[in-house]
Amino acid sequence: MSSQPYELVKDKGLDEGVARLTPEKIAKVVGAVLESEGGARLKAYVDTCAHCGLCAEACHFFHSHDRDPRYAPVAKVKQTLWGILDKGGAVSPDYIARASRVAYTECNLCKRCAMYCPFGIDIAYVVGLMRRICHKLGVTPQYIQDTAHSHSATMNQMWVKDDEWIDSLMWQEAEARDEVADLRIPLEKHGAEIMYSVIGPEPKFRTQLIYQAAVIMHAAGVDWTMPATPGWDNSDMAMYSGDYEIMGRLKRSHFECAQRLGVKRIVMGECGHAFRSVHDVGNRWLGWRDEPVPVIHAVQFYHELITSGKIMIAKKFQEPVTFHDPCNIARGMGLHEMGREVARALCEEVVEMTPNREHNYCCSAGGGVINCGPPFRNTRVHGNKVKAEQLAATGVKTVIAPCHNCHGGLEDIIHHYKLDMKLKFLGDLIYECMEKPWN
Ligand code: SF4
Ligand code: SF4
Ligand code: SF4
Repeated sequence: MSSQPYELVKDKGLDEGVARLTPEKIAKVVGAVLESEGGARLKAYVDTCAHCGLCAEACHFFHSHDRDPRYAPVAKVKQTLWGILDKGGAVSPDYIARASRVAYTECNLCKRCAMYCPFGIDIAYVVGLMRRICHKLGVTPQYIQDTAHSHSATMNQMWVKDDEWIDSLMWQEAEARDEVADLRIPLEKHGAEIMYSVIGPEPKFRTQLIYQAAVIMHAAGVDWTMPATPGWDNSDMAMYSGDYEIMGRLKRSHFECAQRLGVKRIVMGECGHAFRSVHDVGNRWLGWRDEPVPVIHAVQFYHELITSGKIMIAKKFQEPVTFHDPCNIARGMGLHEMGREVARALCEEVVEMTPNREHNYCCSAGGGVINCGPPFRNTRVHGNKVKAEQLAATGVKTVIAPCHNCHGGLEDIIHHYKLDMKLKFLGDLIYECMEKPWN
């Protein structure tokens, strides 16, 4: 059995939320969510599950905890929504206390288990519905709730004020102009081909990525723009906290920016969860089957730039690398081959992890788990020993991960398991390896 019991982790958002619960409140919220949002899909899953446990083999938490059955995907459902359904919603605050920890911190919603289930049962959906109930009950980890508040108040994840956003872009433009004298980061350019959108942490912590994107756009001669107004942030932690009302506001504001600017498409930076939100979840919550403005992920965009010859590679990255498949763009969108083609165009040697592509293990940060904050850091890294083993077995020192969350999760794993490895985005490598005509 596992040696890291989750009960030891304290979290104000969860603990104080649970303390406010009453059996009546639980029954009311559960009834309302299941009646209006549970629907046929939940019933089909519950009625179909054979309790065979085949999904256990899929989960990195299960393997990383010496096959502790509590961490099997089906056990996560049993500890959350199934118990609620069995008791017709009459569960205690203590039950919600445990269920909320399982739902928010012990499942990355990575959907690997759906591939192992003979019936294709999507446990990430069931766990997500449990989070929805927890949100409505006011039982949400403190850090992710803070992020959802930031989204709600500022329309971005990081409390970046409107003038700070523009300042960050102007600052990166000024920096980049030392390298490329006539470079611009065009703001509010109506009718541009492309609106480039990023996640909140880029202007806050990883501004070099905006710099690099601007240099790549400039070299490729792309007609692009960034919005100067809220809606520039494509990220979405409200999707993961279960606050779908805020999720809808965020996605609407993102797409309205693109529509106001009259761009032909949106290109997103290297993020997995944001892609899930704009492409698969937030757009559908708003009633759109597809996006109202076409959206592509950075992997698709870079592939286009390289295969069309708009970006030429001057010198390939010499050291061997490995490629981490972010769940949301590999299992979620099938971009694993395209990601590899970009990596191979940039690097001399790409060493595969095993398993890989749509079978790749999640980084254990996804599904909002990293955003549950430092209290749950050990839950994440202990829950992904298999990822550390998978990385170490490649024998390489560089990991490419085209996803911000994956970077956060893999960085912690590399550090905790003392792996001698560093992480790169595809954009880092393109910037490093491309021909720079102005040099
Ligand atoms: S972490 Fe992934 S594999 Fe494990 S239960 Fe959640 S969705 Fe399934
Ligand atoms: S593999 Fe599918 S049917 Fe079997 S326990 Fe898991 S979810 Fe249920
Ligand atoms: S953070 Fe990356 S690996 Fe983890 S769930 Fe998200 S996309 Fe998947």
